[in-house]
Amino acid sequence: MTPIIDSARIAQQKARKRKHPPSVRKQLLTYIVMGVCILLILFSLTVSWLAGKQTSNLMTDNAQQVARALSSQAILALLTESEENIRPTIQQIMAFPDVLGAGLVTQDGRIFAWQGDAQAEQYFKQINWAEMRSYLVQLEDTEHWYIASAVILSNSQDAESETQLFDAEEEKLGYAIISFSKESLSEINANIILTIVVTGAIVIVALVFIVGSAIQRLLSPLQSLSEVMVYNHETGDHMKSHVQGSREIEQMAQSFNAMMDTLDEQDEKLRSHRDKLEAEVKIRTQELVVARDAALSSSRHKSEFLANMTHELRTPIQSIIGYVDLAKEEAENEGFYDIVPDLDRVTRNADRLLGMINCVLDLSKIEAGRMELNLKSVYLHDLIEGVQEATSPLIPSNNNQFKLEQKCDNLLMRVDHEKLLQVLINLVSNACKFTENGTILLRVSAENDMMTFSVQDTGIGIPEEQQQRIFQQFKQVDGSETRKFAGTGLGLAISKQFCDLMNASISVHSIPGEGSCFTVKIPLSQ
Ligand code: ADP
Repeated sequence: MTPIIDSARIAQQKARKRKHPPSVRKQLLTYIVMGVCILLILFSLTVSWLAGKQTSNLMTDNAQQVARALSSQAILALLTESEENIRPTIQQIMAFPDVLGAGLVTQDGRIFAWQGDAQAEQYFKQINWAEMRSYLVQLEDTEHWYIASAVILSNSQDAESETQLFDAEEEKLGYAIISFSKESLSEINANIILTIVVTGAIVIVALVFIVGSAIQRLLSPLQSLSEVMVYNHETGDHMKSHVQGSREIEQMAQSFNAMMDTLDEQDEKLRSHRDKLEAEVKIRTQELVVARDAALSSSRHKSEFLANMTHELRTPIQSIIGYVDLAKEEAENEGFYDIVPDLDRVTRNADRLLGMINCVLDLSKIEAGRMELNLKSVYLHDLIEGVQEATSPLIPSNNNQFKLEQKCDNLLMRVDHEKLLQVLINLVSNACKFTENGTILLRVSAENDMMTFSVQDTGIGIPEEQQQRIFQQFKQVDGSETRKFAGTGLGLAISKQFCDLMNASISVHSIPGEGSCFTVKIPLSQ
């Protein structure tokens, strides 16, 4: 588990770093310190190399002088091959700092009167002295210098001729050999490096402090400007910044303050505009409320008036129908058969008028909120019988056929029987009216406590764009004066209102020229 937590924490830290990159001050300081460090390192390397070189030259010069001094004292000792003659000189030389060993080499290459480091003596033994023709020989390994100065009988060489080769006449007696330690050189070099490192560290610390505070002083106006910007961004405020610091930062602060001034002005304008708009909206809303109340009240009055009027109209029409029936009976009894068709026409028209008034009455009642549900338990069979009974006279009029397709049992429903009956009669009547020589199919099914009634015909159909319109009041596909089909355009509007009241739905699917299918879905029990 730990590595997961660790990696999550690292990822979080990385994300935080990405979100907040380091400050300008930090970055500047880092770059400057890095640059100075690189310069210091280069400087230290150069200085220590030069100092080392210088010290090394001084030391070898010294060593050469000592070797020369020994060689100048060694003529007699080499001529007489007497160690006694040279020992005091060698002892004096051994007392010099860094001298590890000293001695002589004879002309035939034999080490003679050697004192000191045995390793150095071994080194000198390996050299082929017989063939050596330089006045001064300087060899070295990592820890030592090996210097040999020729002992010449004539002793005529001077400083300038040291590197030259022997003259033919000169007689070389041998070499004075000295081994020097490089330890002092290493110590001096180490001291130089240590001094440089300590000085460098002090310089860097001082530099960080001085440059850091200079950058801080230089960037603090920029930082305060940035803080003001962040504050404004987070709070939505328009606070201004101090105009201070270098010229560029001053210009930035001035521009920022000018922007804040502009924003303040715009805010002020927007506020006053919003206040004005709010006041206007308030006035308009009040006006609209008054207009809506007036419209609602006049609509209620209209609906009440229509409901009362239609109610009053029904009574005289019903008595007209009654009296025409009586007159027809009497005319048939008295043998006035020629007026019977006229009386039938009066009855038919009076029936239509009564139907229309009933429709208007229903709509007015619904709009006035006076239509209520009258729930009753009714068998499906009784409902279907009611539909068939009411619509059977209409079926043959256009030479149509009626079919019933019942896909469920004779269920007991709890619905507003009258209203559901009226909706279904209306759909079957429309199907009869808009179909000729076709079939009207009433399909009944039940599923999940929902009853579905669909009335399908093979009539003229309804164009797609009209299919929703026909459920509105007084809307017909053909609304012209010269239309072929009679009707008020209220049947489907009332059916829709009734369905809404009964928690039912009504919809249509139709293809012009092929037929229409109206579907009503209603809960089995309300
Ligand atoms: P009405 O039939 O009295 O005009 P409806 O509200 O019942 O009023 O019908 C509105 C319109 O819908 C009808 O005028 C007719 O154009 C169209 N319509 C209704 N049913 C059908 C149908 N089965 N086939 C074709 N058109 C229909």
